[in-house]
Amino acid sequence: MLVAGNWKCNKLLNEAELFVEELKGELEKAGGENWSERGCDVMVAPPAPYLAAWAQRVAGAFAVGAQHCSHVSPGAHTGDFTAAMLSSCEVDMVILGHSERRADHRETDEQVAAQLRQALDAGLRPILCCGESLSSREAGNHFDWVKGQISAATAGLSNRDISLVDIAYEPIWAIGTGVTASTGQAQEMHAFIRSTVGQLHGDAVASGMRILYGGSCKPSNAAELFACPDVDGGLIGGAALDPVSFAAIVVAAQCVVCPS
Ligand code: PEP
Repeated sequence: MLVAGNWKCNKLLNEAELFVEELKGELEKAGGENWSERGCDVMVAPPAPYLAAWAQRVAGAFAVGAQHCSHVSPGAHTGDFTAAMLSSCEVDMVILGHSERRADHRETDEQVAAQLRQALDAGLRPILCCGESLSSREAGNHFDWVKGQISAATAGLSNRDISLVDIAYEPIWAIGTGVTASTGQAQEMHAFIRSTVGQLHGDAVASGMRILYGGSCKPSNAAELFACPDVDGGLIGGAALDPVSFAAIVVAAQCVVCPS
């Protein structure tokens, strides 16, 4: 299991610093320090300006993620930052291909593929986001859409590379809307993603891959989503801004791994 928080463009520095202590406290209260050993990795991705100092403050209590890295190489690209730069700031993971970046910054599948390559080369663990719009689902082409996103982004990756990638299925109609995919919808798409990865990269890689659900996941619905056989955790937006809610989602994931 992996429970990953995506703060998007939220919180000022002092709020971000406070969050670290609060989340450490909540995780401690909920049962200790080493959640990875208990079967649930935890990651939070704050805004990029905080990352280097934040990683020092987090000090391994949970993983540190970035919300993006550039597809470009170092050089004359004002405002960009590379995966290697993130790695040098002790960042562990990076979220790539989020629908908001595809929409706001016109990121293409080809750019997401290049970001994925750079992230892997820099030793970061990427979370590759995919997911259809409401119109795509209503038109019935949501499976083809998601398959296209995954095959474009992962083309050319070796089995070793792909084994380091987590996929997040995030239906756009569920992100930040309060409308969550039903467990039936989530399981159906996650099973489809696993079989797509199997066709593209082999069954061994597919069966070991973590496929996260994202889209209005919160403490009240996390347990039932995580109980789906092909849901291996969550990418959490709004509920990751509150340490109490986020820790409750971590506990829900850990309870699936170890019900006692
Ligand atoms: C997200 O943007 O990755 C997300 C899942 O957001 P929310 O949980 O707020 O729907």
